[in-house]
Amino acid sequence: CLHLERIEMTGFKSFADKTVIEFDKGVTAIVGPNGSGKSNLSEAVRWVLGEQSARNLRGKKMNDIVFSGSQSRKPINIAEVTLVLNNEDHSLPIDFTEVSLTRRINRNGDSDCFINKKPCRLKDITDLLMDSGIGKDSFSMISQGKVEQIFQNKPEERRSIFEDAAGIAKYKNRKGNAEKK
Ligand code: ATP
Ligand code: MG
Repeated sequence: CLHLERIEMTGFKSFADKTVIEFDKGVTAIVGPNGSGKSNLSEAVRWVLGEQSARNLRGKKMNDIVFSGSQSRKPINIAEVTLVLNNEDHSLPIDFTEVSLTRRINRNGDSDCFINKKPCRLKDITDLLMDSGIGKDSFSMISQGKVEQIFQNKPEERRSIFEDAAGIAKYKNRKGNAEKK
């Protein structure tokens, strides 16, 4: 089924140098001391999946995610993250068995997105992922505190999680858009 095969990052938070992480079949555990970048890695994934709140990425403005320098390194001007998804079962409605999603931002805050290296809007990425179960707010990303939050949600909020998992969010979304027109 649809899964993350690889993530490539440069200039994202603590990942100044190009960093490539391959996810083999099965479970991958990321371990490391405090401050080594575990949360940054999960934020890199969430950012490409469409996160639009800098605060949810522990920043004030979106370009705070660009590597801001360290004792031994000068700041970098661009952050770029690519997720490579295995789409052999065509869960994503696009005619590729491998789909790369890229998001890039520079220090001035200008940002770009790409699907399989072709420029697109962030909305094209989130639309593509809709109903695949891997959106930034979907069950595929469970951050600290999310479990409690899900159980404390109102029933209607909880229902939207099931709707996303069942693949009907797309239709609801279209219905909503049609009603607005
Ligand atoms: P813990 O086990 O404490 O949760 P962690 O492995 O999750 O730690 P992170 O929070 O991912 O660690 O990484 C924090 C580190 O990332 C800090 O050292 C911080 O300085 C660095 N960092 C965050 N944003 C940037 C940035 N924009 N530029 C450079 N470094 C950054
Ligand atoms: Mg952490």
